[in-house]
Amino acid sequence: MFIRQTHMKKLLLFLFLSCFVLTSRAQQNKTLVLHLERIDPATGKIQKDVERVPADKVGIIVTDMWDKHWCKSWTAREAKMVPKMNRILAAARKMGVQVIFSPSSVANFYKDYPQRKAVLNMPASGDYEYPSVYQLQDSAAQKNWDYSRYSQQYLPGTIYEAREVPGETYKGFPSLPPFANTGGCECRDRKCKDGSVWTRQNKNLLIEANDLITDGDSNTETFNICKAKGITHLLYMGGAGNMCLTWTRGNSVINMANRGFKCAYISDLMISISGNGYNPDTKESDPAFTPAKGDSLVLDHLRKYIAPSVRADEVFAFKK
Ligand SMILES: [Zn+2]
Repeated sequence: MFIRQTHMKKLLLFLFLSCFVLTSRAQQNKTLVLHLERIDPATGKIQKDVERVPADKVGIIVTDMWDKHWCKSWTAREAKMVPKMNRILAAARKMGVQVIFSPSSVANFYKDYPQRKAVLNMPASGDYEYPSVYQLQDSAAQKNWDYSRYSQQYLPGTIYEAREVPGETYKGFPSLPPFANTGGCECRDRKCKDGSVWTRQNKNLLIEANDLITDGDSNTETFNICKAKGITHLLYMGGAGNMCLTWTRGNSVINMANRGFKCAYISDLMISISGNGYNPDTKESDPAFTPAKGDSLVLDHLRKYIAPSVRADEVFAFKK
């Protein structure tokens, strides 16, 4: 009996260690290869860089994939991204990436979801020394902005370099992208009426058991998630690239990078809001102006001044 128990203990120990080794190996293999692209502001040339990151240190922030926007063209463009988004998120989850849905204004819709409750129950990290750039507009707290953090980004000296732009309201912050304050109707006839019509995320966007749902307006929730889970890199998808992904939310790229996280845009799963037959920045009609042109102008700016981009198809090796 004594011998059998000893054997059993050895067997259990062996099984335990085997599992441990197998798990470690599996985790070591789950590495994301980020082909980062940015644009050299001086020459306009694309610069490429590769970074390998353990998948469990990466979070994907899915920003404002609302069921409805007051512009019907924008609503349709966003809905069009959902099928691919679902496929890419499925691949990302399999690799161990944390999926974080970030529907601002409508987080309350999810108050009874375990994925939302898990976020609300996360321990507060207590370190919120960098409030969001949006909250800091014209405030005395801007003096505490630590510009040196920008140089920690992928290619020192350009990404997140604080630039003083003549005439720029947000003096000292990275210059904001085109149409950053002029998001309007993307319909040719521009007949959509402004209003808060969003109620939840697009219902076809799949939420899985281990995902998390955060309020994009919160200055602390995404920070708590990252601290609790050891996340160091954030990849952004959704809309709009020139607003919510970049600066107007507590977990926008500018705000999270300033808190020390490495951020990148997922260029093939994001859209920006601009105009159609009309340039909302110049307020001039321009028949050649399309939402796709707006996307491209914004992406160029982001990759020059804010953060690099990656392609979902490349990072998650999605096979059709
Ligand atoms: Zn519209």
